[in-house]
Formats: sequence, structure tokens, C-alpha cells
Amino acid sequence: MSLSLHGIGAGNGIMIGRAHLHHPSLLSIPHYRITPEQVDAECARFNQAHAAVRQELETLHQRLQTEAPSELSALIGVHLMILNDAPLKDAPIAQITTLLCNAEWALHTQTAAITQQFNTISDAYLRERRNDILQISQRLMRVLLGQTKLSQLPTAHNSELRILIAHDLSPAEVIDLNAHGFSSFVTDLGGATSHSAIVARSLNIPCVVALHHALLWLQQDDLVIVDGNHGVLIIDPDPQVLAEYTQRQAQQRLTQQQLATLRDIPAQSIDGQAIRLHANIERPSDVAGALAQGATGIGLFRSEFLFLNRRELPDEEEQFEAYRQALTASPHYPVTIRTYDLGADKTIAEQLRTSANLALGLRAIRLCLSEPKRFLIQLRALYRASPYGQLKILIPMLMSASEIDQTLSLIAQAKASLVADGLTFNPAVPIGAMVEIPAAALALDLFTKRFDFLSVGTNDLLQYLLAIGRTDNAVAHLYDPLHPAVLFVLAHIFKHATNTGIPFSICGEMAGDVRLTRLLLGLGLREFSMHATQLPEIKQRILHTDIQTATPLAQQMLLTSEPQQLHQLLEQINH
Ligand code: PEP
Ligand code: MG
Repeated sequence: MSLSLHGIGAGNGIMIGRAHLHHPSLLSIPHYRITPEQVDAECARFNQAHAAVRQELETLHQRLQTEAPSELSALIGVHLMILNDAPLKDAPIAQITTLLCNAEWALHTQTAAITQQFNTISDAYLRERRNDILQISQRLMRVLLGQTKLSQLPTAHNSELRILIAHDLSPAEVIDLNAHGFSSFVTDLGGATSHSAIVARSLNIPCVVALHHALLWLQQDDLVIVDGNHGVLIIDPDPQVLAEYTQRQAQQRLTQQQLATLRDIPAQSIDGQAIRLHANIERPSDVAGALAQGATGIGLFRSEFLFLNRRELPDEEEQFEAYRQALTASPHYPVTIRTYDLGADKTIAEQLRTSANLALGLRAIRLCLSEPKRFLIQLRALYRASPYGQLKILIPMLMSASEIDQTLSLIAQAKASLVADGLTFNPAVPIGAMVEIPAAALALDLFTKRFDFLSVGTNDLLQYLLAIGRTDNAVAHLYDPLHPAVLFVLAHIFKHATNTGIPFSICGEMAGDVRLTRLLLGLGLREFSMHATQLPEIKQRILHTDIQTATPLAQQMLLTSEPQQLHQLLEQINH
């Protein structure tokens, strides 16, 4: 009998295959006492296991830096940091010495103590990090127990597509999933912000997490459908459902192939308006891939990714090289580099949690202005790279006139110091501001008078406008880009910016959401920046849009506050 289970869809697409149930045998942990004379040897055994795991992770980290999306190597970087931190490095040694117990038991008791502390944390994102600690501890335990194989995943031998059904999977296991013969997975645990889900999304593996008791409902080799778009697992589907999903899956593949052919076609609406489609990137090496998808510029290079997962921050020379690399990779198109947006969920090792509420605290430009010396290093590196391409500099999270003035004065200071050093640079690099705090959107004059361009960060704008924490799973369902307040504020920004003649774009996730493309065009947007993979679909929608038809419907949406009517109008626009 067909059965549907609902969880969180964390990866794109649909996969149909046979269930492979994974019940890893619980590691039984030996517990014995040692004599004081055995302490040194036991500590050495633990240190050897620790070094072996570090070596495994470092090798994986290096491999991923060249072969995989940036999130993956960033994740392994986080695991390395957790492994090297005192609670998993020094504390077990202290336990062995004081409790006179074996290394496995010391690790077990120490892990229990750390995870217990995490249970009391209310921040959903931080709570998820508890799983990272458990996964690293398990790696260490396996090495101590002589189970040296990195992953305990089974290997699928059947020629049919196999879908792994597990209680939980570590990010490293998700990375290895394809190599073990699996095309998709579902887990009881996890959340939209868990690292395994992030890895699955980066690798485009369809998956559903947070299914609670999926293992209870399934039998080995059951036929299952994983719908990663909607977070649904269908067990033993009846023939009509199976036919429907098979067709949807085929349609998805066909659409992807067709979209690839649009690469070199200019993005122009039916009524002849040219639209700029730019890409969001995290590393200089992402530029080439973005241009290959048809991007005509980089609209957002999140430079803070150069600062993450490392103990030493990049100096001026290293940053200069990174920016130069990005600029030279794009000889014909602009590259917009955003100054670092650290703080909130992207903290560096040395940064203390100085704000009670990180999203409202010392973040992005606020952090830069509180540490001007460090900010000046980035500004100098950016200007030194400016002769190598069409650089644009973007400043995040500005809100007040005084912040803008301080920022512009630091920019002037950086330029003056380069002149004093006799270094060449382009003094006329366009400087832009992100509009992502509601106060900035409503006091736009402050920005239009002082900047060369604007970029609307809808991710944060919606977070602050609707009071929904971006990483908080408990309120994720409240995210609503069609909320009348969101439409009102966006329309206000577009109208005001158009009237003053300042160029503007959206670089938040709304820019890559095809359901919203016509609405945004109708409201006056002409420049979008998004993940490169979303670009072909958005271009296709633009090619099939008559902006003159979309505009009155979009204006009608502005006069409507009832959600049902708004959805009806959106359907009409997208018809
Ligand atoms: C945004 O806030 O919309 C944005 C593009 O910046 P980030 O997602 O990096 O905060
Ligand atoms: Mg932002």
C-alpha cells in the first residue's frame, strides 16, 4: 500500500529507486581502568587516532577545494576546527590522566558532556553543530577501535538506482554517496540548515531530511520516490503515482538540457528590453563557471568566504591576489566585490560573540567600522587589484548617514595611502551600497546621493522586515516574498532609484526565483544577480515575458493586501 511521509526537502529534484536500509551497528564502547604507568601509552594512542583523523580530513579538504562547491570544503574546514579545538583534543587526554580510563571511554564521556551543553542552546543553527561534533567524535572512535575505514556506508551492487535510508548521515558520507552507488538519500534526523543538507544541495543530490521514523516504515528493497523539491518520501507508490513522478523526472531532465542551449542568447524581453543577468559567487575560481552559464557579470562576490575556516586572516597580499584573479577571469564584464560581511552566522575564529543577537549585532560594515585597520587592508587590496578588470565595490548592511560617511572616508584614506606608496590603481571604481535593512530602504535618499549603484539584499531585507531569523527552522515557513510589506518596500526602492537615475539590482535569493521574475520585471527591476545554476531558467522566463503586459498586473498586486488575491494575480502574471 502506498504511503507518503513528509519531511524537509533539502536537495533539488526527484529520484525513484529501491530503498537500501542502513542500520549501522551501534559501536560498543569498551570501558576499562588503566594504571598510572599506562597513562602515557594511552594518551599516545589517543593522539595517534587524533592525528589520523586530522590527516583524513586535511586530505579531503584539499581534494574538495579543487573538485567540489565551496560549501563542501568550507564544511570540512569547520570539522577540522572542531577536531583541533580543546574539547576534542585536550579534554580527552585530561580524562585519561585523571580518571585513569581507556581512550575510548574518555572520548565517550567527553563527547556526552559537550553534546549535553548543546542541547540547552536555543539557536537552531548552533544546535545543528552538535551533530558535527558527534560525527567527528565517531570518526575518532572508529579509528581508536581499529575501524579505519572512513565511511561505514554500505555499497549498493544492484543495477537499479539505490536510495539510502538512514537515521543520520555525516556530510563526509553524503560526499561519498555516489561513489557507494547511491543516487539519493533520506534521513530521520537533520534540518534545512544541517551541514549534510547543505552538502546535498551543493551536489544536487535529491534528498529529504527530518523524516523522524522513516526506517520504521520501510523494508529492504521497497520501491520509493524521493521528492527533494517538496520534502516528500513516497513508499511503494501505486502505478498512477509512479507514472506521474516518472514523467516529472523525465521532464526535469529535458528542461535542463533545453535550458543549456540558451547560454549565448542575450536576455531580452518580448518587448525588446535588455535585462542584465549577473552571478553570485564565493571564490575567485567561481568566476569562470558563472560566465560559462551565460552570466554577463558578477553581481555579488561574497568576499567574506576568503576569511572563513582559517586561523590567520588573509593579509593584503593574499587578498590582492584573490581579487586580481577574479577580475582577470572576467575581462569583458564587471565583477562586483562585496566587502566582507562577517558576523551573524559567518564568524571568524578570533571574533568573540559580542552581540546578544547576532543578526542584529556587530555584523558586516558595522564590524568593519569597529576595526578600521582590518577594513583598510581589504580596501587597499581591492584598489590595488582595480587595474586588472572592471571592479565595482559593494558595501553591505549600511543603515545611517554616519556609517556611510565613515565608510567613504576610509575608502578615501585607503586611496591616499596607495598614492603615498606610489602604487597604481583606478580612482574611479564605482562604489555601491546594499539595501538590506528596512531603514535603508525607507531613507533611500541617503544612499542615492552618495553611491554609484545599489544592490538589494532581499535575504536580509525580508529577515528584518518580517522578523524571521534566516537560519531558524522553526519560523522558516513564515518566509513570504509576496507579503504586501515586501512588495511595497521593493516597489518603493525601484521607483525611487529609477527616478534618481541610480543603477540598481537584486542580489538576494528572490532574484533566482523564477516564480517572481515577471513580478520583479513588472515592478521595474532590470538587473538580477543569482547563483549561476539558476541563471538559464530565469533567462528563459525573460525571453518569454512581455514587460508591458506584466507591469499593470504587478501594479495591481501593489494595491492588494489579501494573500489569496495576491497569489491569483501572481498566477495570472506567470500564465
Ligand atoms: C542578502 O542579504 O540578500 C544578500 C545577498 O546577502 P547575504 O545573503 O550574503 O546576506
Ligand atoms: Mg545580506
